[in-house]
Amino acid sequence: MHILLEVLAELVWFVDIYYKELCSERTLQSNSKGFFLTFADYVADQVGEHWIKNKFGKLKNDIERIKCVYESNETQDLVENFLGNVKEIYRPKNGDFSQKRRLEAERFLKQKEYQKALQLYCQSVLRAPKTGSNTKIDSGLSLSLALWGRAQAFIGLKKYSNALCDIQQALKENLPGSYKGQAFWKMGVCYRGLGEDNRAKVSFDLAEKMLHNDEENIKMLNEDRKGIMAREVIKKPNELPKLVKQNDNFPSASEKLSVKTSKDAGRYVIANQDISSGETLVVESPYAACLLPDMFGLFCHNCFNSLETPLGCPECSSVAFCSAACRDEAISTYHKYECKYLDLLIGSGMSILAHTALRMITQNGLEKSLAIRKNRKKEKVYQLCTHSELRPASDFLQRTLMASFLLRCLQKAGFFHDKTEDKVLPSEEQYQIGDMLLFNLQMLQFNAHEVYHAKCDPDKTLKDSQLVYIGVAVYLTTSLFNHDCFPATARYFLGKNIILTAARPLKANDPVPENYGPIFTKKILPDRQRSLSSRYWFKCQCQACIQNWPAFNMGLETATKRLRCPTEKCSKCYTLPLLKESFECSECKKLINLSNKIILLHWCEEQYQVAFQYMDSNQLKEAIDVLTLAIDTFYKIALPPHKATHLAEAMLCICFNHMAVK
Ligand SMILES: [Zn+2]
Ligand SMILES: [Zn+2]
Ligand SMILES: [Zn+2]
Ligand SMILES: [Zn+2]
Repeated sequence: MHILLEVLAELVWFVDIYYKELCSERTLQSNSKGFFLTFADYVADQVGEHWIKNKFGKLKNDIERIKCVYESNETQDLVENFLGNVKEIYRPKNGDFSQKRRLEAERFLKQKEYQKALQLYCQSVLRAPKTGSNTKIDSGLSLSLALWGRAQAFIGLKKYSNALCDIQQALKENLPGSYKGQAFWKMGVCYRGLGEDNRAKVSFDLAEKMLHNDEENIKMLNEDRKGIMAREVIKKPNELPKLVKQNDNFPSASEKLSVKTSKDAGRYVIANQDISSGETLVVESPYAACLLPDMFGLFCHNCFNSLETPLGCPECSSVAFCSAACRDEAISTYHKYECKYLDLLIGSGMSILAHTALRMITQNGLEKSLAIRKNRKKEKVYQLCTHSELRPASDFLQRTLMASFLLRCLQKAGFFHDKTEDKVLPSEEQYQIGDMLLFNLQMLQFNAHEVYHAKCDPDKTLKDSQLVYIGVAVYLTTSLFNHDCFPATARYFLGKNIILTAARPLKANDPVPENYGPIFTKKILPDRQRSLSSRYWFKCQCQACIQNWPAFNMGLETATKRLRCPTEKCSKCYTLPLLKESFECSECKKLINLSNKIILLHWCEEQYQVAFQYMDSNQLKEAIDVLTLAIDTFYKIALPPHKATHLAEAMLCICFNHMAVK
C-alpha cells in the first residue's frame, strides 16, 4: 500500500473534502438510511467541532478513543442512552408460514410442476421452527416434513444428489415413523439415479421390509427398482487451483513472488523469476468474509457458494446455508452471536465492512480474540495498514461510536463471560474487544476485497457477461499487493476464496500490482485519481497515470503501437508505422530488422479474435490457452498500451471468472 504522506502537504488538495468524507463514511455506513448515522451526527453536533478536534482528536490510540466516548462528560450520557436501546431484532421462525408454503408446494408437486414446488418447499424449509420447538404445528416436525417434500421435488427434477441430501436431513430431523419406509424407497431411487447400485439395493430391501403389508407401494417400489432410469450427470464441484510451488513465507502465494518493503511504496509484491500470463499466483481463503444482506437468499452465508439445498439457522429466518456442515460451522462460531442482532445491525445502516469488523471478532470467540490482541505485534492481521496518522478526528469519532455499537451487540449477545448485560459501561476486557473493533473498522477501509461471482446469463454472450458483487472479505496475503491502474493480475473467486493469476507476462524483479478498483482502460485519469485518493488515501503514480494512457473508446484505439528493439537488454522502442523496417538502433547501435515483429504483432491481434470465437462457443479452456500465448508474445515484442491486448487481458479475466462458476 502506498503511503504518500506528501499528498497531504500539497497545497491544493485535488479532492473536494466533502467527497473524501463521503467515501470514507461509506466504508462505515452503507447508505444514508439507518439509525446509526443519525446518532453519530447527533453526537458530533452535541459535542461540537472544538471538542472533536482539540480533545478527542488529541487521543493517542484506539483504546483511549473507545474509553473516551464512554467516559468523557461530553459523550457519556448520549452514548449510554443510545446503547441502552440495543436489543434483539431478528426474523423468527414461523411454523404457520412454513406449513402453508408446504401445503401449497404439495399441490404443485401433484401437478408435476416441480420447479414451482421446489421454490415453495425452500421457503417452507427456511421458515420451519427448530424440530420439537413448536409442537402445536405438525407435532413439531415441520422442518422434517418440508425437507421430505423438497426431496420429492428434487426427484421430480431428476436431481438425485440434492434429493438424497434432503432425505438424509429429514431423517436427522425426526421424519415421522410412517414415512420411513418411503424414505428408504426414495433413497433407493436416488442411488439408482446416481449409479450406486449396491446402495440402491440395500435401500430398496430395507424399504420393502418396512413396507411389509403395503402391497400397492411394494409394487411401485419394484417398478422403481427395475425400471429404466436416466443417470444424473453430477457436475464436479470446482476445485481450487493448485500453486505449482508454495511460497515458504506466504503459503497462499506462488514461490515465484517475493514481498518487498520500501519507504515510498510500503509493502509490495514483486516477481522473483519470469512468470507467464495465466499462471496462478495466489490461492487464498479469507481471514474473514461477510455476505451482502441482499445476497442472503442466494448464496451460502458461510462459504458463498450458491444455494442448491438451502438449510436455515434454527433460530432466525435471515440466513441460509448450503449444507449442514456450513450451518453447523457458522452456528458454533460467529452466527450464535450475530443471529439475533443481524436485523438490528442491518437496520442500523452499518456497512458490510462494519459487519466484517464484527465478524473478525465473533468468528474467533472471546479467548482467541484476546490472545490475538496480546500477540498483536506478530499477528499478520495487525500488520495491515490503517492510516491512523491521516485519519481526521471526526472520522475517528464516527468509527469509535460504531465500535461502541458493535461492542454493545456483543455484550447483549452473551459474547462475554460476565452476564451483566444491563450494564453499558464496558469492563476492561470488553474495552479490549472494543479496541480491536476500532482497529478493524479502520483497517478494512484499505484492505478489504469485494467478492464477485460471474453471472451466467444464457441470453448473453460471455463477452457481455457481468460480475455480481456478493460480499467482502479480507485476505492477509492478497492485501500485500499494491495498486496499479494497469494491474499485473486478474482475480476471480471460488466461493469466498480469491485466486490471482498473472494477467500478463512478468520478468524477474517486475512489481506485481493488483487493482483496487479503477482500471485505466475503463476510467479516465481524473476519475481514477479521485476515487483512489478518496477511498484509499493515496495518489496513484503508476505508469498509466503518469503517462495518462487513454481509456477504451477514449483514444486507446488510436494509441501508437510501439515495438521493442529486438536486441536483448536494449530499452529502445519504435513507434509504428516505420519509415523503413531495417535500420541501425539509435541506442544499441546494432542493425535491426523489425519486419518479423510487425508480422508477429498482427498474429497476436488475430489470435485474440480466435480466442473470442472460442468464448462465443463457450470453450473457455481453449480460449485461455490461445489468449495467454498471444498475450505473452505481445509483451515480448511490443509495449503497452495496446487496445487489442488490453481487451484480451480483460477477456482472459472473464474466462477465469466463468471457469469458476461453470
Ligand atoms: Zn456453504
Ligand atoms: Zn440465526
Ligand atoms: Zn494509476
Ligand atoms: Zn536497440
